[in-house]
Amino acid sequence: MEEFAAGAGRSIVKKATMSEMIAENLERIRGEITGAAKKAGRSPNEIELVAVTKKQDVEKIRAAEEAGQTLFGESRVQEARAKIPELPARLRWHFIGTLQKNKIRHALPLFELFHSVDSLALAEDLQRVADEAGASPRILLQVNVAGEASKHGFSAEMLRRDLESVLSLGRLTIEGLMTIPPLAPEPEDSRSYFAALRELRDDLEKEFDLQLPQLSMGMSGDFAVAIEEGATLVRVGTAIFGSR
Ligand SMILES: *Cc1c(COP(=O)(O)O)cnc(C)c1O
Repeated sequence: MEEFAAGAGRSIVKKATMSEMIAENLERIRGEITGAAKKAGRSPNEIELVAVTKKQDVEKIRAAEEAGQTLFGESRVQEARAKIPELPARLRWHFIGTLQKNKIRHALPLFELFHSVDSLALAEDLQRVADEAGASPRILLQVNVAGEASKHGFSAEMLRRDLESVLSLGRLTIEGLMTIPPLAPEPEDSRSYFAALRELRDDLEKEFDLQLPQLSMGMSGDFAVAIEEGATLVRVGTAIFGSR
């Protein structure tokens, strides 16, 4: 309230502009999601937009919520712990970053889906902490499709080797795969990596006789291509909220 009293007029003008920008961005992106889905002969209902709010303040998140967005993604547990309690409880949160072992306990009650389980060791830690907490986390397995040394994630070979072990962790529900392709100037540059993730998913479903319905792939620059290649979750930050 004090903030409101100090320089009130100015902050109101600024706030309206920021909210409008976010609402317009969301509307445009939803349109692009629908367009990409139709182009690929898919139903737009198969695709969920995860609004990535890392390094963005709660005011911007509220603006997105007012524009009808309910699903959000954060990549750091500390930051999420500070922001999520400030926001309406009806918002849904996905964890998309690198999960450190010592943060699992705090993360479990905050997030409905963990996109970024990148090793058997992390899955085992999640299982152990979830067991202690009586939690049943839903997860995606992160795959390093391009084999970049700098990126986290299973290689396809590691995943084939470790999948039975991950499947045996009874607290975890594996809903699908996630990838972050190499940084590239053109959206089309990502297509082969998205296709590779989908093909790996299809192969694993057959080899292990299971269902992996979710494919988390596509960010601000390339979500339309990801949808054409089968994405069910697109993680978009900058295109909604502006630069971080
Ligand atoms: C930050 C982040 C995003 C969103 O990236 P933008 O380019 O801002 O859309 C998506 N996925 C992950 C894993 C991220 O860390």
